[in-house]
Amino acid sequence: MSARELEEVRRDVVACRRCPRLVAWREKVARDRTARFADQEYWGKPVPGFGDPSARILVLGLAPAAHGGNRTGRIFTGDRSGDFLFAGLYRVGLANQPTSVSRDDGLALAGAYLAAVNRCCPPKNRPTPAERDACLPFLERELRALHGVRAIVALGAFAWDGALRTLAALGHRAKPKPRFGHLAEAEVGPYALVGCFHPSQQNTFTRKLTPEMLDAVLERAKELAGLRLPRPRRGPRSPVPRVGGRARSGGGSAAG
Ligand code: SF4
Repeated sequence: MSARELEEVRRDVVACRRCPRLVAWREKVARDRTARFADQEYWGKPVPGFGDPSARILVLGLAPAAHGGNRTGRIFTGDRSGDFLFAGLYRVGLANQPTSVSRDDGLALAGAYLAAVNRCCPPKNRPTPAERDACLPFLERELRALHGVRAIVALGAFAWDGALRTLAALGHRAKPKPRFGHLAEAEVGPYALVGCFHPSQQNTFTRKLTPEMLDAVLERAKELAGLRLPRPRRGPRSPVPRVGGRARSGGGSAAG
């Protein structure tokens, strides 16, 4: 049921042209490309969510990267932030492989779903408030479809704020407004919101965010979501773990 609803959201996201500035930017980046990806066909459209329709954890970012998600068509895929994030998801058993390089690389998530506040890459990684508000209804629809989600990991203050706005739109208000911080927690309606520094290069190169710190957030989210998963085997790939007696797939992943 939720897989069908997610597919409808995915279709609507990919077709969206609501924000003229972001449409122009994502298409310009896809046309102009960058030297190291000059031989690649860019996605150049909004990037939908990706992951397990039965997820118990939602991981929320800011927006696709110009030469990452906007190039590959999968959120957090093809840039250094994504490399850092997927390695962590793999270490804690939420992904079947530690890397995400393209939409057909065999990656599947178990118990987790990834999305972003804005689905189009913004210039300088800064969507305007109007662009944020135009895009949040997609997240609202995803959360309605993701019946099992109990924990939301917000990567950075923008995602934290976007999650709170979306939960308020769903009728769950937190008062006073909880403040973002790494490993900050807030109970908002039936959801547990957990903060994590964004895995941007600026944060990971300076070790403001380390792999251990990311793992601590993901493990806490698993605990809050009541998710128990086997740790992956040591090796480049592991089979998709089973959760609640059912294999999880990368459903909702077909970002194009
Ligand atoms: S940012 Fe969101 S609302 Fe704006 S054009 Fe992209 S998908 Fe549509």
